[in-house]
Amino acid sequence: MTSSDPTPATIVIRQLATGPMPPTAANPSGPNSLHTRVADVVRQMGTPPWSKRIIADERQLVTLIASPPGGGNRPHWHREFDEWWVVLGGQLEWELTGGVVVRATKDDIVWVPRGTVHHIRNIGDDLSLRLAVAMPPAMHYFSPCEQCGYTDTGPTEWCA
Ligand SMILES: [Zn+2]
Repeated sequence: MTSSDPTPATIVIRQLATGPMPPTAANPSGPNSLHTRVADVVRQMGTPPWSKRIIADERQLVTLIASPPGGGNRPHWHREFDEWWVVLGGQLEWELTGGVVVRATKDDIVWVPRGTVHHIRNIGDDLSLRLAVAMPPAMHYFSPCEQCGYTDTGPTEWCA
């Protein structure tokens, strides 16, 4: 691990609802649209790879991610949240710390605990789509993939 700050993470919710209200905070262009049609996002975003933030608030960051065949993420781990995904299309593989491999397809849900490096790749022949659920500020800590050896010279920490 590259960082060892033991300070506990906290969340402050500054805007509290005081009672029933219409969804005035909804943003029609996203994030936080009342209704997102995945097919519309795919059409608007065009050629992968791409990612589109769908929902963002104090506790959650939900992102639709498209990868072309062979594409994927930079292997990384998180300090303060467990991350999970819903696969909406294609065939994806998670290479995890400790030699664990998870392969998932449409309608599958994958969960990875904090501290586990996850290297996600599209192992199929079609576009892959996954909905990623993370927690702000969603700090990412790069770590080479112990399974496939993927590494690069990019940033060691980044915020998504
Ligand atoms: Zn992650």
